[in-house]
Amino acid sequence: MSPIQSYGTKRARATGRRYTISVHVVVIGAGVFGLWTAHHLLEAGAAVTLVDSYTPGHSRSSSGDETRIVRCGYGPDRVYSEMAYASLAQWRALDARSGAAVWHECGVLWMAAGKDPYTEATRRTLGACGYPHEVLERAALQRRFPEIDIADAHVPEMAGTAAARDIDMALLEPACGVILARRAIRALADELSRRGVRIVHAQARTPADPRDAIETSDGSRIAGDRFVFTCGAWLPRLFPDFLAGRIRPTRQVVVYFGTPPGDGRFRSPRWPAWIDFPAGIYGTPDIDGRGVKIGIDEHGPAIDPDRAERIVDGDSIARARAWLAQRVPALTTAPVIESRVCQYENTSTGDFLIDRHPQRANVWFAGGGSGHGFKHGPAIGERVARMVMNEEPSEPRFALEHKTADARRSIY
Ligand SMILES: Cc1cc2nc3c(=O)[nH]c(=O)nc-3n(C[C@H](O)[C@H](O)[C@H](O)COP(=O)(O)OP(=O)(O)OC[C@H]3O[C@@H](n4cnc5c(N)ncnc54)[C@H](O)[C@@H]3O)c2cc1C
Repeated sequence: MSPIQSYGTKRARATGRRYTISVHVVVIGAGVFGLWTAHHLLEAGAAVTLVDSYTPGHSRSSSGDETRIVRCGYGPDRVYSEMAYASLAQWRALDARSGAAVWHECGVLWMAAGKDPYTEATRRTLGACGYPHEVLERAALQRRFPEIDIADAHVPEMAGTAAARDIDMALLEPACGVILARRAIRALADELSRRGVRIVHAQARTPADPRDAIETSDGSRIAGDRFVFTCGAWLPRLFPDFLAGRIRPTRQVVVYFGTPPGDGRFRSPRWPAWIDFPAGIYGTPDIDGRGVKIGIDEHGPAIDPDRAERIVDGDSIARARAWLAQRVPALTTAPVIESRVCQYENTSTGDFLIDRHPQRANVWFAGGGSGHGFKHGPAIGERVARMVMNEEPSEPRFALEHKTADARRSIY
């Protein structure tokens, strides 16, 4: 039996007949959190309406990029390892039933300089959970991925940075990989639509007291019994009273570098996704010929998700290129073939925010993906659906009361 009970199904005592009361849940925000929430609500027997200001997978959403890494390693934070592992199975299932080829099992490589304690904690957690991983010492790493230069700084721009040190070991999660993010979002939205979820193109207003409907910016009403706001970087605008400062959207850059003609070395699954943890740089292999993606994980300046010009700055490109020159010399002069500006929606620590509205009993919200939320979409959706349908409380570390307005990131 599904862990989520069908809240709407009751037995009429007098007659012994079964009848169904359908609970209608309106999910506002069709990014990865909202779509998987809609999916699990539907599985639990709810009627679902999905609302988005733009369209699922649009270019201003955090979920709208080409690729997202799925890894289970989270240092000592087992709760995230378990959520990622549970989600992995659901991503694979979506890949199989949609036929949309959204999953690339190319592995994820953690590169660690010195005895990096976070990588060491990751190894311990993966071991304790029994999740697949391999430790690659220097020689093994060089044999497996000879394109990676593990030596210390030889690129002037990297000298003196944390990224300048030798890579001493790496951790490979071979069963992990990359989701084609936008394609997966579209596939899931199409599937939900076929299963009867109404998808509405409208901007929801801050709900005053949504007894049976929310209002949209054009003055119309969308009826429902319960409301879930999965609005990513827009959440603090919708709920400024208690979310302003507790979710801080930042501008983040990714750059795609073209691989040399006829050179298949950097393609998935030959090449993995990776995280150079000390350097704060991560990337994905060449998929569908879109190039090797380099992402800068350090938090950028504040961003307005509606109005920001999404033009990448020269400094970010130079930084991404310097990393390539240091670690993947064969791509030093690779051309930039695409670049994107996206946004993180950061909580103080990087822990998600999944809770009930402090004053409205029929309103919940889920957000604060903090640069690592995509992979967890399925597990988050399942958790939110249980809260909405079964009245389950929030997990303390995801609760509003534990969210502060300072920046002390500990989850990556
Ligand atoms: C550069 C970058 C790289 C990342 N890399 C990874 C990675 O490798 N692995 C990983 O797991 N995670 C990664 N993440 C994080 C991940 O992408 C996000 O955590 C996740 O996509 C957040 O999803 P969301 O559904 O909360 O938000 P979104 O995808 O932004 O969706 C929110 C939706 O709400 C809608 N909305 C907002 N306000 C309203 C309103 N008033 N009415 C109606 N609709 C509204 C918006 O239009 C939007 O579609 C990365 C993020 C970035 C920016």
